[in-house]
Amino acid sequence: MRQSENYIEAVRDLIEICGDDPNREGLEETPYRVLKAFLEYTEGYHENPKHHLEKVFDVQHEGLIMVKDIEFHSMCEHHFAPFFGVAHIAYIPSEKITGLSKIARMVDGYAKRFQVQERLSNQIVDAMDEVLHPQGVMVVMEAKHMCMCGRGVKKGDAMTMTTATRGVFAKNPDKRMEFLSLLGK
Ligand SMILES: [Zn+2]
Repeated sequence: MRQSENYIEAVRDLIEICGDDPNREGLEETPYRVLKAFLEYTEGYHENPKHHLEKVFDVQHEGLIMVKDIEFHSMCEHHFAPFFGVAHIAYIPSEKITGLSKIARMVDGYAKRFQVQERLSNQIVDAMDEVLHPQGVMVVMEAKHMCMCGRGVKKGDAMTMTTATRGVFAKNPDKRMEFLSLLGK
C-alpha cells in the first residue's frame, strides 16, 4: 500500500498537468478533499453487497415483485467520471423474499466502485440469483454518464439503458414484456 501522502502528491501533479497551480489558495486543500471523495465513491469495495440480501423471509408468493426507481451513483472506470440514475429490479421468488431496502443497499454496494454499467447490471442480477434462488430476476438500469456529457461527444441528454436477466426472464420473452409494461417502457 502506498502512503496517502503519495496520493496527495499525485492529485497535486494532476492539477499541475491540467495547467493550474496546486499552491493557489483555492486549490490548496483540494487533494485531501479529492482523496476523501474517492474513498466515499468507492466504499463498496469494503463490503460484500450480497450479504444485504441474506435477511430473507419465507413467503408464498407466486407473482412478480418489482422495486422501481432505486437511485444509484457510480463511477465510470474508464474516465473516473460519475454516472448515475435508477435501477428497476423485478424477481419472481421461489420461496424466499428479501426486504426492499436490502435490495437498495445491495445496489449501492456494487455501484460504489469503479464500474461499467453493463457489469453493474450483471452483478445485481447475479447477487439476487445466488442468494434468493428466484425463478427469475431482471434489472433495467437507466443512467446518465458524465463522461458523455461534459467531454468527448458532449451528448448531455443521452441516457444509457442496460438490462440483465436470469432464470425465467432470460428464457421467456413474455416475462420480460410483463416487467417492461409495468415499468411503462
Ligand atoms: Zn466513461
